[in-house]
Amino acid sequence: MKNFYQTIILGAGAAGMMCAAYAGKGVLVFDHAKKPGEKIRISGGGRCNFTNLLTNPSNFISQNPHFMKSALRGFTQQDFIKLIENHAIAYHEKTLGQLFCDESSQNIISLLLKEMGKNQAELSLQTCLIDITKRDQLFQLTLEKEGKRHTIQCQNFVIASGGKSIPKMGATGLGYQLAQQFGHKIIETRPGLVPLTFDNNFLTLTKTLSGVSLQADIRFEKMTFREGLLFTHRGLSGPAILQISSYWQEGKPIYLSLLQNKILLKDLKEARRNTGKRSLKNHFSDQLPKNLVSALLQHHNLTGNLGDQPDKALDKIAKLFTNWSLHPVGTEGYRTAEVTLGGVDTKDLYSKTMMSRKVENLYFIGEVVDVTGWLGGYNFQWAWSSGVAAGKNINQ
Ligand SMILES: Cc1cc2nc3c(=O)[nH]c(=O)nc-3n(C[C@H](O)[C@H](O)[C@H](O)COP(=O)(O)OP(=O)(O)OC[C@H]3O[C@@H](n4cnc5c(N)ncnc54)[C@H](O)[C@@H]3O)c2cc1C
Repeated sequence: MKNFYQTIILGAGAAGMMCAAYAGKGVLVFDHAKKPGEKIRISGGGRCNFTNLLTNPSNFISQNPHFMKSALRGFTQQDFIKLIENHAIAYHEKTLGQLFCDESSQNIISLLLKEMGKNQAELSLQTCLIDITKRDQLFQLTLEKEGKRHTIQCQNFVIASGGKSIPKMGATGLGYQLAQQFGHKIIETRPGLVPLTFDNNFLTLTKTLSGVSLQADIRFEKMTFREGLLFTHRGLSGPAILQISSYWQEGKPIYLSLLQNKILLKDLKEARRNTGKRSLKNHFSDQLPKNLVSALLQHHNLTGNLGDQPDKALDKIAKLFTNWSLHPVGTEGYRTAEVTLGGVDTKDLYSKTMMSRKVENLYFIGEVVDVTGWLGGYNFQWAWSSGVAAGKNINQ
């Protein structure tokens, strides 16, 4: 380690390595982990969903829905795809614009290390920050590696320490603490893209249905996703639940539509007239898995044939299949969350460069910022775009 670097980046994750690749000469990236890009490695089931063809500012959650626009325009999903193609990494679209590596997410980590290598950026792993201050236009850092302390100065300091999710993989709250040390406000953080938890009564139902999956509409207030839903012994999971978890607020219901048909009540009344001798179970089993229909009807004490049901019961049945209100009691928390919502308030950052408005040459990029993407490659695209925005500004 030298005594002076032009730029020091905290965090060898997606955003930090991308920034290092664009920040010019004299860059040190340090991380307390043993390996760089650990979240990239485990992402997308080991194949890294590295971007989304449909990336658009509306796929992100932030107190300021405009903040991410400039960075996303400055380095788009097509720009990252070009980089992937330049490195001859094979990829495919899975669904809904989501791009994955054909082979392994290790391809993406190698790409980033090679790009960093072009600028001779240094990487120091198993390195911890002991202290940082800013004096006379320079940041003064004390880093510790292998029991030795190093005092280093730098012109630019970039915080790319990610969110709080999966502490087992090295996530810490250091980025938020440093932001506060330098006078930045933190928008309250909470786990996102995370399984929701339910009470025991609901679990008796989901346990019997464990393994059943289907496409469903899931809604919280004005936000609806149509994605895969999975019943598990711990409740509900799958992309639909993960997506809505980022919007859900404690104490409020979410609504599930197993059948998309909005005029179901009218259909049910017609079916009662025409096929009154058909059982409820058979009627719905034409459209949904049989075991799901049986368990759902039984759990709600709905029995008999269509012809036996008074209007009130038909209305209840229609709601159950098209607007079923569910009451999560919580989430599984940071232990299993894919992302952290909230973070460094964007009000005090320049959207074009990610530089602090409070401290010159201090930058925040990636997940530590109050910008969170939907499931589907959007979070990595934010890491690439915000990393490039800071890197290019540093390299001017
Ligand atoms: C299981 C899982 C699967 C995911 N799959 C996808 C996917 O397929 N597509 C997608 O778009 N997003 C996915 N995500 C989200 C994505 O991984 C993150 O949004 C992205 O990695 C954020 O990049 P980042 O560089 O900001 O933070 P990170 O990639 O988390 O990097 C932060 C780095 O900072 C280091 N660090 C933290 N604290 C300290 C400290 N105190 N001292 C030193 N170093 C520190 C960490 O070790 C880490 O290397 C997934 C997340 C998880 C958990």
